[in-house]
Amino acid sequence: MSSLPLLLERPALLDRLAASAPWDLVVVGGGATGLGVALDAVARGFSVVLLEAEDFAKGTSSRATKLVHGGVRYLAQGNVGLVREALVERSTLLANAPHLAQRLPFVVPTYRRWEQPFYGVGLKLYDALAGARGLGPTEWLSARRTAELLPTVAREGLAGGVRYWDGQFDDARLALALARTAAARGALVLNHMPVVGLRREAGRITGVVAEDAESGRRFELAARCVVNATGVWVDAVRDMDRDAGAPSRAPMVAPSQGVHLVVDRAFLPGTHALMVPKTSDGRVLFAVPWLGKTILGTTDTPRDDLAREPAPFKAEVDFILGEAARYLARAPSRADVRSVWVGLRPLVKPASDDGPDGEGGDGAPHTKALSREHTVVVGRSGLVTVTGGKWTTYRAMAEDVLERAMARGLLPRRPAGATLRLPLLGAAAGRPLGEPPGEHGYGSEAAVLRALPGATHWLWRDAESGQGGLSEAMVRFAARHEMARTVEDVLARRCRLLFLDAREAARQAGPVAALLGEETGRGVDAGSFVELAARYASVP
Ligand SMILES: Cc1cc2nc3c(=O)[nH]c(=O)nc-3n(C[C@H](O)[C@H](O)[C@H](O)COP(=O)(O)OP(=O)(O)OC[C@H]3O[C@@H](n4cnc5c(N)ncnc54)[C@H](O)[C@@H]3O)c2cc1C
Repeated sequence: MSSLPLLLERPALLDRLAASAPWDLVVVGGGATGLGVALDAVARGFSVVLLEAEDFAKGTSSRATKLVHGGVRYLAQGNVGLVREALVERSTLLANAPHLAQRLPFVVPTYRRWEQPFYGVGLKLYDALAGARGLGPTEWLSARRTAELLPTVAREGLAGGVRYWDGQFDDARLALALARTAAARGALVLNHMPVVGLRREAGRITGVVAEDAESGRRFELAARCVVNATGVWVDAVRDMDRDAGAPSRAPMVAPSQGVHLVVDRAFLPGTHALMVPKTSDGRVLFAVPWLGKTILGTTDTPRDDLAREPAPFKAEVDFILGEAARYLARAPSRADVRSVWVGLRPLVKPASDDGPDGEGGDGAPHTKALSREHTVVVGRSGLVTVTGGKWTTYRAMAEDVLERAMARGLLPRRPAGATLRLPLLGAAAGRPLGEPPGEHGYGSEAAVLRALPGATHWLWRDAESGQGGLSEAMVRFAARHEMARTVEDVLARRCRLLFLDAREAARQAGPVAALLGEETGRGVDAGSFVELAARYASVP
């Protein structure tokens, strides 16, 4: 790989797309799953193109609770295999992207005598499963120590607490790091490039048809293998894989939404996250320090549509604020919410309309009920569909996808493990992710950022800390090196201001549009972002 900063200019990328010979692999979808597959495949020496309809991580992958975790609640459900795999991946990710994924201490405050031993023993088991990959030992805490670590925890009846260790990350910037690392290794990755059709010959998938969202120009790509990694939207791509006039395929995804509220850091100062293992309706809830603010979430509400920007339900906001009020001395109100965002989980239903897969099965997902694990299905046509799972396990999922594609003969065999010790672009020890966003988020690329015009010109500064923020140079970096095309690309996913403070993000739309226009030589609209930010700022 070159040590020069990676320039990703769209006209040159489009020329490459137009000129391309058949690819080994076309990946459809630029979230955690698709980007993981693209990086793994290019690291094994395959020729790879990845096409994302909107922007990298525009879907679920920018809307996570930001935890790199084994999933304590899966342990409670007895799903040891899932937890063990996630714990291995947790440490792999922390090692490969230390600027974007770090360990984080969590405290479970306890109010009844039985809670401390009960949760403590469970979390000790969590430590035992992590083994040498553990991030720190689980400890029993006195009430006084619990209140020291969580200065704003509700004191009345506080009996003690349990501290355990897990990880946290910046999801959208990690997605960008995966995209850029894949590009640096030779993959062609493009955002704002939806796949609008599949190429089929004699019932076999032979490539895709994509359309540049900016110009409407169409591209026909030939490929040995096509992977559908479009998250909750996989069924729309699966449905492209049928003969004219044939009935639609039965959907395999049942979406469920999760809401997060963001409030000021003052509601949970300090360096520890708060974990509620059992809410009033039996779920897990987190309050997590993140980029200078506090994230509260999440919910799990089935829905029957697949909106790109799903809206929160009033009952979900009531639930989160109600639970926060039980555990925080000063309860946040609706007026305190700086941003509210919603992600869709693809829960997988058993399917039966796909043909034999490479492992001799019937192609149905290996699940009996709605599954939180990932599912890979290889259809009769050879279309490989992957969905479900979690961010933390994206790398293991990618290995699974490639194994299934190779087993089916869609790709020649090449050994797994290429991404196990593959540092992502910018990898360098970083400042805690609890601090406001700033240059440190760029890791070893911070020097490139500092050399750009406007490195000390701040468009926005974090008001609570007076540190970090968004500089003019960060917008230029986003345009030159991170494929940002729209104001939303910058303010939602390169800098996370939309998720941290939607009203402040709206105020930055104009200056960001002007800078992006200067960098890309085209008119950039600010109005649509202002409308979007108004939705993130409005709390039902
Ligand atoms: C509320 C919530 C909280 C979560 N918290 C955590 C957490 O803390 N830790 C964790 O490990 N996991 C977490 N997860 C799970 C994790 O976020 C998801 O498993 C992961 O982001 C899914 O990634 P994906 O790539 O499969 O889907 P997505 O991120 O949705 O990506 C799919 C992409 O495909 C694109 N696309 C769709 N159609 C097309 C097309 N025709 N052509 C091209 N592109 C297309 C979309 O634009 C989208 O970008 C959470 C999930 C939710 C819902």
